[in-house]
Amino acid sequence: MPEQPHILATLKEYFGYDSFRPLQQEIIDSIFAGNDNLVIMPTGGGKSICYQLPALLLPGITLVISPLIALMKDQVDGLQANGIKAAFVNSSQTENEQHSIYQNLIDKQIKLLYVAPESLSFLDTILSQIEVSLIAVDEAHCISAWGHDFRPAYTQLGYLKNKFPNTPLIALTATADKATRQDICDQLNISNATQHLASFDRKNLSLEVRPGNKRIEQILNFLDNKPNDSGIIYCLSRKATETLAEKLRNQGYNAEAYHAGVVHEKRAKVQEDFINDSIQIVCATIAFGMGIDKSNVRWVIHYNLPKNIEGYYQEIGRAGRDGLPSSTLLFHSYADVVQLQKFADMSGNKEVQLAKLDRMKQYAESLSCRRKILLSYFGELIEKDCGNCDVCLDPPTFIDGTIIAQKALSTVTRIKEQEPIGTVIDVLRGAQNAAVYDKGYQQLRTYGIGNDISWRDWQQYIIQLINQGYLEIAFHLNNKLRLTERSKKVLFNNEKVSLSHLKEFEKIKATHVEQ
Ligand code: ADP
Ligand code: ZN
Repeated sequence: MPEQPHILATLKEYFGYDSFRPLQQEIIDSIFAGNDNLVIMPTGGGKSICYQLPALLLPGITLVISPLIALMKDQVDGLQANGIKAAFVNSSQTENEQHSIYQNLIDKQIKLLYVAPESLSFLDTILSQIEVSLIAVDEAHCISAWGHDFRPAYTQLGYLKNKFPNTPLIALTATADKATRQDICDQLNISNATQHLASFDRKNLSLEVRPGNKRIEQILNFLDNKPNDSGIIYCLSRKATETLAEKLRNQGYNAEAYHAGVVHEKRAKVQEDFINDSIQIVCATIAFGMGIDKSNVRWVIHYNLPKNIEGYYQEIGRAGRDGLPSSTLLFHSYADVVQLQKFADMSGNKEVQLAKLDRMKQYAESLSCRRKILLSYFGELIEKDCGNCDVCLDPPTFIDGTIIAQKALSTVTRIKEQEPIGTVIDVLRGAQNAAVYDKGYQQLRTYGIGNDISWRDWQQYIIQLINQGYLEIAFHLNNKLRLTERSKKVLFNNEKVSLSHLKEFEKIKATHVEQ
């Protein structure tokens, strides 16, 4: 094992750092001790050094498996700029390029070799001819169907430990719940791996969730006291990023859209301008941010509900990497849930996706400390409430919601459980529209009995009723709202219902007119 001063000198010489971040040292020691390792560390925690530094001190090469073909070249360029002999092999290269890399490998001119999992099988022969001292599997959650980003090519990686039984393997990921963790170790054949779990608690990030109504106004209000701070707004659709960026530009903000449909040069430019602070706001689909290293992102907004907590956590994690206080804001809307439910339905592993979406919803609808929920998802328990989320800062108060519940439930009964939330609210509020008239709902006894409550508030109350099990949404029957066993207790047994008092979110200024 290399001496400690030698390790620190290498850290300084090649990476320019004076000390290690939490866990880096113990992970590196464990590699030198010959162990297999599983590293769970949030994005920005400093995972790369954990294998890049040992790579410099070990006799043979370090093989790095990475799914991010688009980023490989940048990563390798960065290493080479620091004087590290690194190369990559992936499908974007010509045969000639690949052969010259093979020659360099045999000539021991390479310390770190980045490989896409798809390209690994082509390297089988060459790998038998060289000394492999360490294998790193980056983004290791891709191996698991339980992870949020499953890549079939990753499932072949079990081969590595069979081919190199005595070479330490290190698997790294930013996101893995317990099931995924176990799955990673099983599939990579590293059941005795030492596990290193970094804390996922990013105390400097405030957490806030609001109902997704009048989002543009809410965003403009949010920005009023952050006129120059850099931020990212994540949207579900490309179209939304475009319209949102344009609306922000119309209000004088320097905002650009970023998504997979934007031409490559333009995307690179947006990314660069954002890093250099010449663009203030990027409205992006999830494609944005992977691998970008900008420490002063002061806020992240989710315009739409993310499809799972892993993705959400990773995206808010792009704020406040410098450790300074930063804000995050998530808009929660029922329409998004329906949309995501449809995506999940169409996906290959429907059950997993739906379960993950459910956890995301629970987070968004929580009436207790959000950080507790977020961290418990990653297997981390905190004793005290965080004091830096909207629930902690402004705890919900409860009202007697029995009458509200009775009105809603009896309306659902009278329309024979045949309508989605929107129409139920229309009937409650006595709306005069086609959805109501076409079916003669204006004749019902409950028509208009809820016109003292605004449409938006009804929506929130009904969502609460769903969460408490008084109603359910039949997702496979056009989202019709239906009664449950529990509804009957309210309708027939006088069960009391407690609902959380709805807050006035942001006073929307008259100048911020919805466009
Ligand atoms: P991850 O892969 O976990 O997302 P990276 O390896 O990309 O994180 O590191 C995130 C940032 O932290 C990079 O800018 C990196 O240079 C920096 N970093 C890593 N280790 C240290 C350290 N020991 N001291 C200072 N900065 C570090
Ligand atoms: Zn809290």
